Amino acid sequence: MKKFLILTIAFAFILQGAFLLFADEEGKVTKVYEGDRIKVKIDGKSYKVQLLGVDTPKKKWGSDELTKYVAKAAKKYTIDQIKKKNVTLKADKKAGDKNKSGDLLRYVYIGKTHINAELLKQGYGKVNEDLSFSQKTSFKKYESKAKKDGEGLWGEPKKKVGVFAKLFGNSDEEEDEDIDEDASAPASKATAVKTSSSGEKREYADTGKWVFVTKSGEKYHRKDCGHIANSQDIEKITVEEAKKRGLEPCKTCNPPK
Ligand SMILES: [Zn+2]
Repeated sequence: MKKFLILTIAFAFILQGAFLLFADEEGKVTKVYEGDRIKVKIDGKSYKVQLLGVDTPKKKWGSDELTKYVAKAAKKYTIDQIKKKNVTLKADKKAGDKNKSGDLLRYVYIGKTHINAELLKQGYGKVNEDLSFSQKTSFKKYESKAKKDGEGLWGEPKKKVGVFAKLFGNSDEEEDEDIDEDASAPASKATAVKTSSSGEKREYADTGKWVFVTKSGEKYHRKDCGHIANSQDIEKITVEEAKKRGLEPCKTCNPPK
């Protein structure tokens, strides 16, 4: 009987360990390395996190312009969505806790938005074929749909490069927009209206009040949104103007409201 009790207790501990390992974690994103790789602070400790099941463009994919632009767009998307924000991390038993480099493998959520899935839906990445994970079937569907719709990576390269070039210009500075872990600027700073002569781009970054629309669209977007990446007639307007026109904020890119 005593032996049974000990075994039961031991088993309970193992079970608890397994639950702890796969319990959701809450953390704050302190850095975005790439669209699919971030640094998250959980309970005061920093972890590198690989977004499970999605691969955004890597150097080994080649150095053609479209790949470079999509890498940039993916990174910007991740920064815009979750930089300095609190996220929920979910592990997947099938995929395991960590990858070979020791990064946590996680699905990353902000509210109900599943960032891993969104990256695929917008064509900012491909499904990681080398990994087994429980959401692979849905992820493949998102990828196929993005392919069919010519989102991000999947459009006609020449045309897409032109569109991305228009969106990004020569804004290499933006790429360095990483989050300094210790420089925890107050959130209000991001929405402060700057009246300095620092130019349009800066104004956009600081006020967050510029949005992008197409002639026929019923939604307004952030400039890097996959839904407008294929459009030739993008117009930059203020949120107020977008609302006046009766346009709704895009649910995918979550523009300023
Ligand atoms: Zn959008």
